[in-house]
Order: sequence, then structure tokens, then C-alpha cells
Amino acid sequence: MTQEAFAWMSGGCHCGAVRFEAKLPTKVVAQSCNCSICAKSGFVHVIVPESRFRLIQGGDRLTTYMFNTGVARHLFCAACGVKSFYRPRSNPDGWSVNAHCLDGADGLEIEIEAFDGQNWEANAPALADLSRDTA
Ligand SMILES: [Zn+2]
Repeated sequence: MTQEAFAWMSGGCHCGAVRFEAKLPTKVVAQSCNCSICAKSGFVHVIVPESRFRLIQGGDRLTTYMFNTGVARHLFCAACGVKSFYRPRSNPDGWSVNAHCLDGADGLEIEIEAFDGQNWEANAPALADLSRDTA
């Protein structure tokens, strides 16, 4: 098994109030989801374990939106409205970072795969391992 190199990458919302860091390998697989909320917001998911995410600033600026089962915590900046990361229903023990909100993403290779969130119940189990600590 080869050891992947992980690095802390920074990102945030549009106005800069909310800033976070996520520890990512140089090559990440992200999910583009077609569910009711992701389709409208264009969120591209990079799901990480709790240990590989840290909020740097702006926790007090986050507003929470919930719907349906109420498991997911859709967090967005109250000033600019951008959802840069959130607590996903598929991985409530981890975080989903928006690939579009990573700074520059220099040196990061992002492969985007389609996720059929319109059939969430059938497909979500395939994502369950993404929030598991493997290191
Ligand atoms: Zn903002």
C-alpha cells in the first residue's frame, strides 16, 4: 500500500468571513450531486473525516439550513450566502467541503464523479467510508 501525501488546503466563502482548512491528498475524487439542493447550489463534494477539517474563522457567521430528514446541516455564510462546507447526511461524522471554495487548489488534482442524489437511499452507502480515518 502506498502512502499518500496529505496537505492542509485552505478555502472559504466569497466575502472571506468564513475560512476553513481541509487535509487533502494531492489527488481527490469529488462528487457532483444531482439532488434537490446540490443541483441548485452547484456544490461539489470533497468529503473528509472530522480529523481532516478545521474551521479557522467565521463560525459565528454561519447560518444553518435544514430540510427533509434534518440530518444534514447546510451551513452558509450569513453575509455572502456561500456554502463553503457543511455536515452531510451521507457522512454526519465528517464534513463535505465545496471543491469550488478551495483557494486556487494549486497542486490539487480533482476528479469529479457524478453522484445520483436523486436516488439517495440507494447510493449514499457508497460514500460512507469517505469520512473514516484511514491514516
Ligand atoms: Zn461570506
